[in-house]
Amino acid sequence: MLPVLALVGRPNVGKSTLFNRLTRTRDALVANFPGLTRDRKYGQANVADHEFIVVDTGGITGDEEGIDALMAGQSLQAIEEADAVFFLVDARAGLTVADEAIAMHLRKQEKKVFLVANKTDGIDADSATGEFYALALGEVYQIAAAHGKGVRSLIEKALDGF
Ligand code: GDP
Ligand code: MG
Repeated sequence: MLPVLALVGRPNVGKSTLFNRLTRTRDALVANFPGLTRDRKYGQANVADHEFIVVDTGGITGDEEGIDALMAGQSLQAIEEADAVFFLVDARAGLTVADEAIAMHLRKQEKKVFLVANKTDGIDADSATGEFYALALGEVYQIAAAHGKGVRSLIEKALDGF
């Protein structure tokens, strides 16, 4: 069995963009419309000599009703199935209430969680990501999924030991 890496976070933080980079496909729907990927999606990845399964999710808003509730349910199932979880946040948007709700859930999990601040391209990444330490999930890893910045070294760290 290959290790399973789940990508979770609120809509529009860049989960599908990272999924596509890791799997080198365009299969996950990437859009400017938040929450378009409404189901879990699986792909196989081979990055930095690690072979693994990536799970893209529709996103959790922390305030779930209707279709949002279904998306959140999918995300929670993806977390259950995963060996490691990347919790993505948006370095440009900053810390949101939804991020806090998701973090609260993840802190109760036994899973290996990596807090990943995406969209750190073209900004002062250190000052933009400092506030995410308040989520109490340890290190904040800086990446730019759209450009590949920080992705390889994060995968090396996350999948070391699998
Ligand atoms: P998802 O809803 O979490 O799956 O987010 P998407 O992958 O669909 O991306 C949402 C938006 O953020 C899209 O417009 C992406 O082009 C943009 N985006 C994703 N990654 C990056 C990044 O590294 N840098 C910047 N500047 N934009 C990004
Ligand atoms: Mg998506």
